[in-house]
Amino acid sequence: MSARRGIVILGIFAADTAYKAKRLPRIAETIMGSGFALGPGGKGSNQSIAAAKAGGEVTFISRVGKDPFGEMALSAYKAAGVKANVIQMDEVPTGAAFIFVNEENGDNAIIVAAGAAGLIGVEDVDANRQDIENAAIFMTQLEQPIEAAIYGLSIARAAGVTTILNPAPARSLPDEIYALCDFFAPNEVEAAEIVGHPVETDEQARAAGDLLLRKGVGAAIITLGARGALYHTAGRSEFVPAFSAGKVIDTTGAGDAFLGGFATALSEGRNPVEAVRLGCATAAIAVTRPGTAPAMPMRAEIDALLS
Ligand code: ADP
Repeated sequence: MSARRGIVILGIFAADTAYKAKRLPRIAETIMGSGFALGPGGKGSNQSIAAAKAGGEVTFISRVGKDPFGEMALSAYKAAGVKANVIQMDEVPTGAAFIFVNEENGDNAIIVAAGAAGLIGVEDVDANRQDIENAAIFMTQLEQPIEAAIYGLSIARAAGVTTILNPAPARSLPDEIYALCDFFAPNEVEAAEIVGHPVETDEQARAAGDLLLRKGVGAAIITLGARGALYHTAGRSEFVPAFSAGKVIDTTGAGDAFLGGFATALSEGRNPVEAVRLGCATAAIAVTRPGTAPAMPMRAEIDALLS
């Protein structure tokens, strides 16, 4: 076995700006809100911070703007110990999400402007080729242009690096992508959209896993919210229950916490089911805290929950 430990993650950063009000505004209307919150978002960015806090050696490939949101991202990577291979672009803003929240019923409406992260392309993968080829794990999602994800997965696969795709947000996928994934890890909503049938019961989750295996993935990992996660591969299919680490207050970013913990455990040479357990423990702690990246637990906390 090689001593490779690195985790390289390709994805986006977007500043989440959330506005709360008693109801959503109508067209051409201005209403007064009751609260505002600013936090780091973007699945790849959150996964990077989760993995680094869980003890992984993480490199994050992305793009931001030369503006306060971009600085916010870079300082978060510094604090978490993520190596940021992040280009700061001059004339394009950092990605941002504008989130309306109806505080009465939780309804929301969101506009995401990917900004600099929307310009991530195959050249970003090429520029980081050496880091990818020398890594233990390469992980990506579908928030940046899909060509970059496919190219990154191909380069990693050719170098014998373990590949993880979090197919989020769900979209139609080219057939070639499945066979590039050692681990294909959607949540149940994304899995349902990708396989074309509901993924609510255990049987439906296993059927979705079977279909993904036939399409060519090495293993499907379907996260099931408060129920935990299904690990499904040709020789083994196992439901790993969720952990409880206290009162659940914010499940935003649970999937990102899970993947950060999962990738870190795999990078340490743990077997996939143990890695899923570590992912579930990471997410169980994150959901007891507000926000996304700031909610990600340190390794000692994860180990304490697992012991
Ligand atoms: P996403 O955040 O992408 O929607 P999920 O909701 O499936 O993903 O959550 C990912 C993982 O987070 C789950 O597999 C589970 O381990 C953990 N998790 C989610 N919700 C809870 C919860 N209420 N209590 C404990 N763990 C949770």
